[in-house]
Amino acid sequence: MNRHWTNDELLDRLYGLAEKDSHIESCADCARRWNELRARRAMLAAPGQVSSEVLAAQRRKIYARLGQEPGSRKVWAPALAAAACVLAVGLFIYKPAPVPHPEAADAQLFSEAYSMEQSAEPRAAAPIHALFEDNP
Ligand SMILES: [Zn+2]
Repeated sequence: MNRHWTNDELLDRLYGLAEKDSHIESCADCARRWNELRARRAMLAAPGQVSSEVLAAQRRKIYARLGQEPGSRKVWAPALAAAACVLAVGLFIYKPAPVPHPEAADAQLFSEAYSMEQSAEPRAAAPIHALFEDNP
């Protein structure tokens, strides 16, 4: 490999994921970056080496991020408003269907069927009879 190592390749090598490569022995720049990375890793891995100031600063950054509230409500607000509008329109338009009364409908049907059966003439002949009645 003739080109310089990228940071990802250095990290891969640091964690033992990279293949063996002789570039680092021949390149002063990559060797310097490699040594800096190893020194930083050794500093962070050593117990008790992280100062309380670094931890306090990290904690302040985390609290600052938490205080920002990443705007999840702002993302959902338009969708929530649209859903509320649809619900309001639906409630405004909604009219419940009239509930049929099966007992009354059945009784009416039976009475009509009974009267049709009992009458000698069909009901369609009633208007014709009206023509022949004497009206004063
Ligand atoms: Zn290099």
